[in-house]
Amino acid sequence: MAGIPIIMCLKMKRSLHVFQGLLSLCDQTYYTMTRFLIRGILITCDGANRIIYDGAVLVEDKIIRRVGKFDELIHEDGIEEVIGNSRSIVIPGLINTHTHLSMTLFKGILEGLTGMSWLKLAWSIESHLKADDVYAGARLGCVEMLKSGTTCFADHYFQMENVAKAVKETGIRGVLAEAVLDFGDRARGAELLKKGESFAEKWHGKANGRVQCMIGPHSTYTCTPDTLKLASDIARRLGIGTHLHVLEHREEASKVKRKYGKKPIELLESVGFLNKKVLAAHVTFASDEDLSVLKKRHVNVNVNVYCKMKGGQGIARIREMLDMGINVSLGTDGPASHNNLDMFEEMKLSIAATALRYRNPGALSAMQSIRMATINGARAIGQDAKIGSIEEGKEADMVVLQTASARATPLFNPAVMSAQTLCGNDVEHVIVQGRIVIRNKKLVDVNEGNITREAEARFGELMRRSGLQFYSENNMTA
Ligand SMILES: [Zn+2]
Repeated sequence: MAGIPIIMCLKMKRSLHVFQGLLSLCDQTYYTMTRFLIRGILITCDGANRIIYDGAVLVEDKIIRRVGKFDELIHEDGIEEVIGNSRSIVIPGLINTHTHLSMTLFKGILEGLTGMSWLKLAWSIESHLKADDVYAGARLGCVEMLKSGTTCFADHYFQMENVAKAVKETGIRGVLAEAVLDFGDRARGAELLKKGESFAEKWHGKANGRVQCMIGPHSTYTCTPDTLKLASDIARRLGIGTHLHVLEHREEASKVKRKYGKKPIELLESVGFLNKKVLAAHVTFASDEDLSVLKKRHVNVNVNVYCKMKGGQGIARIREMLDMGINVSLGTDGPASHNNLDMFEEMKLSIAATALRYRNPGALSAMQSIRMATINGARAIGQDAKIGSIEEGKEADMVVLQTASARATPLFNPAVMSAQTLCGNDVEHVIVQGRIVIRNKKLVDVNEGNITREAEARFGELMRRSGLQFYSENNMTA
C-alpha cells in the first residue's frame, strides 16, 4: 500500500467557518471549524486496549466524534479531507510527564556527570539564564516535541511565564510548574511559592485550556518540610496538582534522613503532601515501604529511564509498580540529561531496561509502554477524561506515523512497531485539540528556522556568560 496519497481532499472543500468572534473567547487561538478523518491502524489505548485495522477517527471541531472502520466513516457528511492511509499507524498524542524544557540549551554540556556534581554545574549555568533564554529554549523544545509526536508535557523550571508563552504560540499542551528550591531557607521557599502561585493563577486554563499549571517544589533534598507543606496547601487551595522530584539519586534517602530524621516518602507523608494530584518524578530508588505509601495515597509516578541509565544510577521498579496498580508514566527529563525529547526512545528503553532489571524479556510489553506514554500520562496530570486515548468525546490529540519505509517493513505488530521500531522522525502528522499542527512533517503555524536560529544564538550567549567555551578540542574529543 506504500505510495497511497497521504492527504486526499474529498468532495468540495467546505468553506472554513472562521469564527472571528471566538478569537477572544478562545484566548486568541485561531480557531476553525473542521471535519476530517484520520485513517490508519488505530492503537486506541482505550479501556479495552483496542487496535482497529483500517480504522478511522472522525474529528470535528476539536473533538473525536466517532471511532470505527474507515469503510463506514468515509460516508459521513461534510468530510473535508482524509489524513493517513490504511497502513499508517495512529496513536494518541504522546505525553511527556517530566521535563525541564528550556534545558534544550544545555544539550550535550553536562556529560559524564551524575547526582550532585551534575546538579551543581546545571545550577551554575542556570544562574546566568535570562528570560529570553528560557523562552528560546522552550520554543525549541516545543518544536522538537511536536515533530516527534509529543502533544503534551509536564514541565518544571524557572521563569515559567516564558514557557507558557511558547506553549501558547506553538500549539502544544503544557502542564507547567514554577520550580521552588529553598536550600534550607523557609522564607525564600515562601517567597518562591508565592511566585509559583501567581503564575498558576494567571495561566491555568489559558491558551484554550492547553496551558495547565501545577505547584513545583523541587524535592525533599532542596526544600524544607515547611516549604513542602505550604506548596501542598497552595495546590489544594487552587485545586491543582504538585510536581516534584522523588528518590532520583541513590544517596538521596540517606541524605534527607540525616537532615530531617525521615526518608523522602516518610517526610512527604508526615506533612500531608501525598495525594492523587501529586506527580512524583523518577522514583528510582523506592523501597517496598515507599511503594506501598505511594499506592495508598494514589500518587502518580513518572519514570525517566534513559537519563537514569545514562547517569549510571539505576532502573525504576516499573513492573512492580504497575502490578500494584500505581499509575506509572514516562518522561524524558530535561534535554541536558536525555539529550533529546523523543518519547519513542523512552518507550523503547523502558521495555529494554525493565527486561534487564527483572531478567525477563516479557517484563514490559510494547502496549504497556505505549499506555505509559499516553493514557497513564494523561492520568498523571489529571486530564485522562480529556486526552490520552482515541475515544469518542475526547479532545483530538493524535499522531499519524508513516510506515511506507524500509524501517517499517514488514508491518507485523503495530504496537511493537510503534514502541520499538519507529522513532520521532517517523511522525508524519500531529493533531492537538483537533488542529493539525504538523502536516507532512512540517510545522503549520510556526517557523522552525526562526526558532532554531534564535535558540542557537541564545545558546552561544549563555555559554559566554557562563564562562564555558562553545566548543573546545577537549569537548570535541572527550
Ligand atoms: Zn527532573
